[in-house]
Amino acid sequence: MALTGVQIFKLLPKTNCKKCGFPTCLAFAMKLAQGGVELSACPDVSEEAKQSLGEASAPPIRAFTLGTGEKAVKIGGETVLFRHEKKFVNPCALAVNIKDDLGEEEIADIATEVANSEIDRVGQKLRVDAISIEYASNDSAKYEAVVKLAAEKAPEAAIILNCKDAAAAEAAVKAIAGRKPLIYCATGENAEAMANIAKANSVPLAACADGPEALSALTEKIKGLGVEDIVLDSGAKTAGEIIQHNTQIRRSALKKNFKPLGYPIINFVLRDDPVYEASIASVAIAKYSSIVVLSSIEKWKNVALFTLRQNLYTDPQVPMQVEQKVYDIGEATADSPLMITTNFSLTYFIVSGEIENSKVPSRLAVMDCEGLSVLTAWAAGKFTASKIAQFIKESGIESQVSHKELILPGQVAILSGSLEDKLEGWKVTVGPREANAIPTFLKGRAA
Ligand code: SF4
Repeated sequence: MALTGVQIFKLLPKTNCKKCGFPTCLAFAMKLAQGGVELSACPDVSEEAKQSLGEASAPPIRAFTLGTGEKAVKIGGETVLFRHEKKFVNPCALAVNIKDDLGEEEIADIATEVANSEIDRVGQKLRVDAISIEYASNDSAKYEAVVKLAAEKAPEAAIILNCKDAAAAEAAVKAIAGRKPLIYCATGENAEAMANIAKANSVPLAACADGPEALSALTEKIKGLGVEDIVLDSGAKTAGEIIQHNTQIRRSALKKNFKPLGYPIINFVLRDDPVYEASIASVAIAKYSSIVVLSSIEKWKNVALFTLRQNLYTDPQVPMQVEQKVYDIGEATADSPLMITTNFSLTYFIVSGEIENSKVPSRLAVMDCEGLSVLTAWAAGKFTASKIAQFIKESGIESQVSHKELILPGQVAILSGSLEDKLEGWKVTVGPREANAIPTFLKGRAA
């Protein structure tokens, strides 16, 4: 049964030392009771308390990583049903399924495509995270060789061993044990053998059953066999089943603290038609899937799914921001134009992209306005003449330019006079209102 914040508080050190990031032990206890933080965040908690709190203090949906290294993907750990209640925490992993009976060259090509799938979007690196290798050949030696090949061609991708044959799965796990692959999957028939392999090799295990109810019985069995990191597959295939099953699972875990379903979810959305597949994948990403397995990856599909995923997993209460500083764009020199904007990520990437398009090396001063865009920051009193003047003076840019000219976004042209008054010796030029006019503006000045 779940403990209340006060019950948890009684077991904490009560020193209010703040090492956990909370101002008091009581605040930490309250957050722990809601599942919004892990007990391990308190370094001073006693062994006795750890035991007493036990599962009651565990997050409602278990969090763990797929794969290893810098690009390992953390899944699970979610604490809310709806993003606007707080935020979604760990973006779902995207994987592509490869059948082991394809030709060697084709397998190598797909794995290489996964390795090269990374793109940069508003300052975040987005990629296909994992490869699922399906045991279609019924040839254990071939499967092991294909698993090794895919792992070698995509050295940082997480690996899913899509294989219900325990002997073949065990050989494949051992072949790439250092990569911490996910075994997919344990069923009612093979649960014991698969759980033993997962436990012996310290790798996560997917449980697959027909619907959430059967699934909860299976996860209890697997957990009883000593496996902690479990992924859920309820067998949902259609968009309707995915919404229904995934919602039931998430609700049971969060609202009823039902531990047998408190694990991340995997959905295979394999379809022959890539557009159809992308639409089913979108449903799974939006509705609680932690791993979505696709049958193919194409650049257009990647971008669409990456964008959806990124938008869902950004914190709705915190605008995306870039660091406050003066950025050189191109081979900027002391003579290069100096522009200014705010630190809202989208604003920065649009403005810097248009400066790049102009091919005129420039400097872009990005001012911390708490992630607000130019007009919003101005309206909120964060992008004012006094604050801009202070930022320019403190940035030290004055000693790095041969001119004293600052180009102001056209949308805040109204600030130009007062800014010139406050920035003594500087000329303030009003730039374009819209970013897409920047190339013409800069090229016109350079001509
Ligand atoms: S780290 Fe532990 S002892 Fe310190 S304030 Fe947080 S809960 Fe209390």
